[in-house]
Amino acid sequence: MGSRKSVNDLAASPTSPATSATEWSAEQSARTYQIEGWGTPYFSVNDEGHVIVRPNPGDGREIDLFELTDDVRERGIELPLLVRFEDIVSHRIGVLNENFKTAMAECGYAGGYRGIYPVKVNQQRHLVETIVASGREHDYGLEAGSKAELLIALAVTGRDAIIVCNGYKDASYIETAFLAQRFDKQVFVVLERAEELDIAIRAAKRLGIKPTLGVRAKLSARGVGRWADSAGDRAKFGLTKAELVGVVDRLEAEGMLDCLRLLHFHIGSQISSIMPFKSAVREAAHLYVELSKLGCPLGFFDVGGGLAVDYDGSKTDYKASRNYTLAEYAADVVTEVQDACREADVAEPDIITESGRATVAHQSILLFEVVGESAVRFGEPTEPTEESHRVLHELYATCLGVMPKNVQESWHDACHAKEEAQSLFRYGYLRLRELAQAERLYWHCCERIMNTCERLRTVPEELEGLRKDMAATYYCNFSLFQSAPDVWAIDQLFPIMPIHRLGECPDVRATLADLTCDSDGCIDHFIDAEDERDTLELHALEDGRPYYLGMFLNGAYQEILGDLHNLFGDTNAVHVKTTKNGYEITHVIKGDSTKDVLRYVQYQPAEMLESVRRQAERALADSRINIKQMRLLMRHYESALSSYTYLSTEEEFPPSGGSFPPK
Ligand code: PLP
Repeated sequence: MGSRKSVNDLAASPTSPATSATEWSAEQSARTYQIEGWGTPYFSVNDEGHVIVRPNPGDGREIDLFELTDDVRERGIELPLLVRFEDIVSHRIGVLNENFKTAMAECGYAGGYRGIYPVKVNQQRHLVETIVASGREHDYGLEAGSKAELLIALAVTGRDAIIVCNGYKDASYIETAFLAQRFDKQVFVVLERAEELDIAIRAAKRLGIKPTLGVRAKLSARGVGRWADSAGDRAKFGLTKAELVGVVDRLEAEGMLDCLRLLHFHIGSQISSIMPFKSAVREAAHLYVELSKLGCPLGFFDVGGGLAVDYDGSKTDYKASRNYTLAEYAADVVTEVQDACREADVAEPDIITESGRATVAHQSILLFEVVGESAVRFGEPTEPTEESHRVLHELYATCLGVMPKNVQESWHDACHAKEEAQSLFRYGYLRLRELAQAERLYWHCCERIMNTCERLRTVPEELEGLRKDMAATYYCNFSLFQSAPDVWAIDQLFPIMPIHRLGECPDVRATLADLTCDSDGCIDHFIDAEDERDTLELHALEDGRPYYLGMFLNGAYQEILGDLHNLFGDTNAVHVKTTKNGYEITHVIKGDSTKDVLRYVQYQPAEMLESVRRQAERALADSRINIKQMRLLMRHYESALSSYTYLSTEEEFPPSGGSFPPK
């Protein structure tokens, strides 16, 4: 794990393991889950031990997330559920604008600020419409990275909006964008590859339009972390310095140099350290100056995305965090551009940012329920009898003898005895029941060793993994591949915590497993202010009492990257907006039904139903089932086709008196 450089004090102190089940407060939970670090100003914990949301920080209104969950379920909308807070989106856009406006005012910057939202980060219609509506007062625009995204941007933006067209383009993409330049908005077509220039020139001539063009520069400065390769000399996107000069010469020769109005770069997403940003902006600012000197009228300087989200709340340069504030980011961008322009006596351009993650990550929370557990807990060890094999007596003695000064030795003894028991079984000297008892005694030893380690100042290295081995697995009603694919694909960390019971001590350490039949469908790394944790502190499950977890800050990239592994489809989603008296659910977006996902993989539900009906009739004719069972099967089949793809907590069909074998 990389070391962290912090510019600020940590907002939350590292957690010590839960000890007493009785003396526990909501504040202790807040510290355990570090909610102040990653959640301020939107999320915190109330005295009732529930997570609360302040969608519009500062206006005093709070939404109890647990009560909201019950409220949504009352409407028949089941978990897993995405809750999107529209006011958080507006707040994010407002904060970004304020920071740039302040930075510009402070240094007397002559250009303006234009934020744009990259549609690729989350294309959901209601979200994009919220962004467009909230962004209106800030002249907020959209970035499109493909033809389909351009179609969205053209349809949903209003007058004077900026649309920046990135991504690889064909003639129809470019022509659509050029024609839209005749609308009452500013549409920039950014050349990403040298080949696009030819297509653009031909299209401009064909249409008789003088287009507004931009160029994406391939900078030498590189980003950091997972997306470092988005920049640098061998980056996939953008034009090299030689290609940029070629574009300038060609446009000049075509009498179109005045079409080049924007310089763009993007050094990757989740840039956790401010230094790469500064270097990239400095390099690009000098490029801007040089292009201006070559006669390009430009006027817009687009710094792309990359503004990071502090997922772990550590305020460091760790990959899940960021070691700078929004104010610092804005000030650095503005002053770097200003310095380069002033030095060269070039007019200061309007600055565009394409922050995606930082705009939409906070607004959405995935809520899901724990539906079961598997734990290695066996109560008190049972003493072997006189007839029991020697190896069982040895394990029992090891178990009773664990103490701080011999934890390592006890561990070696337990491992050795377990291996011996397995080998005795393989050669027929131990019966199955004896092996089962040996396994139980081994886990008892591990539990005692682990508990003893909690009291030690330094834990022997070889025992560090024991806590994870001993952790419970909590089975959760969601699909990691559908709802948080980046956890699986790139080890992304999201803050995860219970949204209730926070006044109770979370005395179970667990990892999370999703519903898919895939061993990768589990979460075993969690945020920590100093490092990553391999288990999460959770509460013991109680019969008949639901246990809800929230995965926070997951509004960026996850929804569209999610897939249909095991045919678990899109989850339900609701949009929540605060009102004078509380909140209103403005949109309900029903998740996929089984029918929807089956059609996606070319099945026809009606044909499937008919095929199963015919098989049931044959079974009935042969008396393999009775008519009641046939009716129940068909009702199950039909109902499953129309229902949510996730587990239902309701028993839809109480046993209806069928018997087996059929009468
Ligand atoms: N702009 C471009 C060109 C991108 O490729 C991306 C995503 O990688 C973004 C903006 C958004 O980046 P982020 O979500 O890190 O702000």
